[in-house]
Amino acid sequence: MKYIEKLRNSGLRPTKQRLQICDVLFNTDKTFHFTINELEQKIKKQTNSKISLATVYNTVHAFEKKGYLKQIPINSSETYFDTNVTDHHHFYDLKEEKLIDLENSDVGPINILKKINGKKIKSVEVLVKLEE
Ligand SMILES: [Zn+2]
Repeated sequence: MKYIEKLRNSGLRPTKQRLQICDVLFNTDKTFHFTINELEQKIKKQTNSKISLATVYNTVHAFEKKGYLKQIPINSSETYFDTNVTDHHHFYDLKEEKLIDLENSDVGPINILKKINGKKIKSVEVLVKLEE
């Protein structure tokens, strides 16, 4: 099964709980943005079984390290993860506490004027915060 490979590649033992995490994360075409706490709640609801926050936490971080998930830090207290690991922009709705993908066609050219010696820009990802 493809999830078992994903877990092994990430240095994780394929336990029942971790396979449930994979199913929630990867068994969809839709992009999924989530915090660790939201993911824990969703797994509990979908599977009707117990899962420890620590398991969710270490599985998500192992996937992130391996490049299966992308981390999107919103501020010092909130980190979101994204199942879409390509470079892309986001709206962040401050009231709903929700991330929304922006397509590249939704954003015009971004012009970064400052240069750092010896460095070049690898990617530009914009986080646009929305309020009422
Ligand atoms: Zn996204």
